[in-house]
Amino acid sequence: MSAELDLWIQGAPRPARGSERFANTNPATGELISEVARARAEDVADAVSAAKAALPAWRSTSVAERADILDAIADGIEADLDGFAEAESRDTGKPISLARSIDIPRAIANFRFFAGAVRHDETGFHRMDHAINYTLRKPLGVVGLITPWNLPLYLLTWKTAPALAMGNTLVAKPSELTPSTASRMAEVMKGAGLPDGVFNIVHGFGAECGEALVSHDDVSAISFTGGTQTGARVAATAAPRFKKLSLELGGKNSTLVFADVDLDEAVQGAVRAGFTNQGQVCLCGSRVLIERPIYEAFRERFIAGVRAMEVGDPRDPATRIGSLVSADHRSKVESYIALAREEGGHILTGGARPALPAPLDRGAFLEPTVVDGLAPDCRTSTEEIFGPVVTLHPFDTEEEAIAIANGTQYGLAASVWTRDLERAHRVSAQLDTGMVWVNTWLMRDLRVPFGGVKASGVGREGGKYSLGFFSESVNICVKLGGDR
Ligand code: NDP
Repeated sequence: MSAELDLWIQGAPRPARGSERFANTNPATGELISEVARARAEDVADAVSAAKAALPAWRSTSVAERADILDAIADGIEADLDGFAEAESRDTGKPISLARSIDIPRAIANFRFFAGAVRHDETGFHRMDHAINYTLRKPLGVVGLITPWNLPLYLLTWKTAPALAMGNTLVAKPSELTPSTASRMAEVMKGAGLPDGVFNIVHGFGAECGEALVSHDDVSAISFTGGTQTGARVAATAAPRFKKLSLELGGKNSTLVFADVDLDEAVQGAVRAGFTNQGQVCLCGSRVLIERPIYEAFRERFIAGVRAMEVGDPRDPATRIGSLVSADHRSKVESYIALAREEGGHILTGGARPALPAPLDRGAFLEPTVVDGLAPDCRTSTEEIFGPVVTLHPFDTEEEAIAIANGTQYGLAASVWTRDLERAHRVSAQLDTGMVWVNTWLMRDLRVPFGGVKASGVGREGGKYSLGFFSESVNICVKLGGDR
């Protein structure tokens, strides 16, 4: 049973001008989900025009009105949580349990959080002897949001909520692999009272649809989450046009495990960090650095933890590892497993496609894979694989662990596992990443700065950082009298 999924422009679904469509398939079964309208530059131009026309009225609404609409959108998604979770699981191949417990609840939380954040927002005030300065925050205008396939609604709402809160109008381009929940959300937004044209969606491919959005003269800013190479291209297109730009890019994150840890807790944390969402989270701890005295004991328990994860039907609530997002992506991940072998790695578990019954035998499944015996600076150990593949590396000193962790082009996140408080602070401060977790992973407070350094991105999202990005600060200086 397949359906047609349209663009969303001016508060209504609409086919692409050229009437072209592309297939959206379930990667776990190969089944067709929908025929999706394929936007090209002329459709992007229509969406931008709709957003531009809606801007004057939307930017004039009060903060209270906008915050109330964000809350109503959260309520609307919550009322259809199961429908959203099923759609997300079908598009991505991720376990339904994950979509129900993480993806969709977090999308709801994003709207509620930014409704609260904008209600309580404050701006600067600077007193001089004979004048006062205060800061106004103005919307940027029409903003383009470009998002990846791994956490489709979670990441789209992480941008949409603060951008709307600050009075911008939007054109979103979700990954063409995962278009469904964005469109479902557009319907909810209409029901929640969001005026037509404030939020628009163009489905389509990066080169013909994403690129047209980034290069459009009426788009003032781009918030992009995706791969590092794509981010470089987006930056090259946006920079000469002086667009404001936020880039959340790839990662190769280390989990540093010191010998004084509670072994079971650290193993459990490292397994979760390595394999959540089939290893397709930018924050995944895809290399685990283990202090030598506990290396063997850790490795044994880690392998047991990985083997205990149920691989299979994403619709089964017991499944821990679902399908990768596509057969193409699985081929890319498998090429890294082949590379690991060439580079001298030992596959300790996994490395193959699991045998699953029809229709899952047509899915893009891959066993969770653990490799050791690799040099910490080889390609497998330093490049982003973005799949269920984790490499293990022993270390002898704190300095060596920090050097290995910092020895990649990426700098997104790390986690440090130790019971030594001083070491936890000392090591965390020396890691070249935007975020460090101590004795945990992916514990999120939506107020804190989120983002990476080096090839992992430019800028920060979260709380006041997002409100700052999606607005222009204007200083007003008022002379109070006197002779200056
Ligand atoms: P891509 O970079 O391939 O795509 C991201 C988005 O950009 C997609 O919507 C894509 O469209 C679009 N796009 C592609 N080319 C262009 C272009 N020339 N101009 C404008 N837009 C374009 O990333 P993936 O979707 O493969 O996602 C995985 C990557 O995202 C990983 O590297 C991961 O680390 C990163 N990521 C980073 C996060 C962070 O917060 N730092 C969070 C989550 C993921 P299309 O789908 O058609 O190619």
